[in-house]
Amino acid sequence: MSNFPEISHGFVSDPFSFDPSINLKNLKAFYNLYKLTNISFKDWVIAGQVHGDNFSYVEKDRNLFMPKIIKNIDALLTSEKRRMIVMFFADCFPVYIFIPKIPLIGLIHVGWRGAIKMLPLKILKEIFNTYKISPNEIFLAVGPGIQRCCFQVDNNFVEYLDEQSLDYLEKRKENFYFDIKRFIISQISVFGISEKNLEYSEICTKCNLDFYSFRRDKTRKRNVGFIYIK
Ligand SMILES: [Zn+2]
Repeated sequence: MSNFPEISHGFVSDPFSFDPSINLKNLKAFYNLYKLTNISFKDWVIAGQVHGDNFSYVEKDRNLFMPKIIKNIDALLTSEKRRMIVMFFADCFPVYIFIPKIPLIGLIHVGWRGAIKMLPLKILKEIFNTYKISPNEIFLAVGPGIQRCCFQVDNNFVEYLDEQSLDYLEKRKENFYFDIKRFIISQISVFGISEKNLEYSEICTKCNLDFYSFRRDKTRKRNVGFIYIK
């Protein structure tokens, strides 16, 4: 998606290091992200993520100075220019959406819970029902997250799975691993979106020390995903 000059999107960790619980500590991180993007705080919209399957379009209203926070939401969509969607990640996957012809952008926060709740599928259904677009007019990118190398789950995890999601569970030696990314991609592929419109990162946030990982560090610090239309 980086070959579209009309949008900007990214996935960054230090020096951004958001801690969702302590607002004052975030000021420096806020400032760093502002310096990187040059989007003023009032034009940010931050998702208060809960590993659920709610999503929303960003409404036009803004706070005077501070970012707008939308609670209880794991996906946001907007057509507004210079309105930046911001989300926090530590092993969950960001899924970036761009439809140039509308234009529409979106960002989804998907961990195993969101994947099992079929959040990517739900968002794409909404988009295809609302807009008259063909599958070759939508572009998606799945960013870094915890990959199949590291997402070990215990035996009870099977109880959460159904027939579809069970395909992404694998047994290696005596342990079970779940491939969240492949499960996300399978939900995207249902709509006939071709390979050339879909990018995905091989970076594992647990293996790669440049990123925060909840599994590795039990940290409250978060990587930051963002997207906006210029
Ligand atoms: Zn890994």
